[in-house]
Parts: sequence; structure tokens; C-alpha cells
Amino acid sequence: MKPGRHLEASSTVRARFAYACAACGFEGEAEVVGEGWVEGAVAGAAASAPEPAAADGSAAADALEHAEGAAWGDALTTVELAPCPRCEARDGRRWRAWLGAQLPGALALGALAGLVVALGSFVLRPEPDGWPLLLGLAAWPLAAAGVLGARVSRKRRRATTLRWR
Ligand SMILES: [Zn+2]
Repeated sequence: MKPGRHLEASSTVRARFAYACAACGFEGEAEVVGEGWVEGAVAGAAASAPEPAAADGSAAADALEHAEGAAWGDALTTVELAPCPRCEARDGRRWRAWLGAQLPGALALGALAGLVVALGSFVLRPEPDGWPLLLGLAAWPLAAAGVLGARVSRKRRRATTLRWR
């Protein structure tokens, strides 16, 4: 097997989505910029293709396609989660669904942070005891909440960049 190559791709799209407010009945169109970013090693068919140059090309195209998909998804959820321009109501059901979708990623990143804290305190403490494990477990939900909070505030900030028509 060849060693995997590292790839990064980012994409920005400008999109328009229809918006309807369930609270006040406002209907309009929002213009929004979405950003998508993917990172990862080249895998699957692209990595095992006979022509390395062609494989690199198709993997790059693949990554770009994923980044574009992520950018469209970002644009759509930004509009869906934006407060209504007339009455400022937000769609609570959509917010809860979006938060639910963010949770696994936030928990995974939080677990990583907890592991770093546990290993760090394990190395630093002179006596062998259970503290590193406890600290790591305590850091997990805190870090996950931090990740979630950062994503929510980013989404709220993005909503202020919407143009309504
Ligand atoms: Zn409204």
C-alpha cells in the first residue's frame, strides 16, 4: 500500500434560498455565502489508481466536490437558522435538530481534549493515582460544550451576513 496523501480543499458559494417564517408569515428570499472545508488523506479508488497523477487529480476533484457540498449545506443551514428579518423569531425545531447533528462531532473533539488533559496530568503528577482519569473525564463535557458554543456563535454571526430580498 502506498502512504496516504494529505489533501485540503475549501469552497465558497453564494446562494439564494426561500425563507418563510412560521411565527409571523413573512416570506422572502435570503442571499447567503456558504463556506465549506474538507481535510483528509486520499483514500479508496483514487489512492489505488494505476496513474498517480490522474489519481491525485481525481482525489483533488473529489475533495473539492465535498467542500462544495459542505459550503451549500452551510449556506442552507445559515438561512434556516437565521432569525426572521421581520419578527426576529427563530425556528426552535430546526435549531434543536441542528444542535443534535453537531453533538457527535463536539463530543468526539471533547473526548480528544479530555484525553490530552488526562495524559498531560498523568505525566505531570509525581504520584500514581486516579486524578488524571478524573481530570480527563471532567474536561470532556467542558470541551464538548465549548466546541458546541463556538459553532452556535459562528452560526449566529453568519446570520447577520444575510441579505434579504
Ligand atoms: Zn417572522
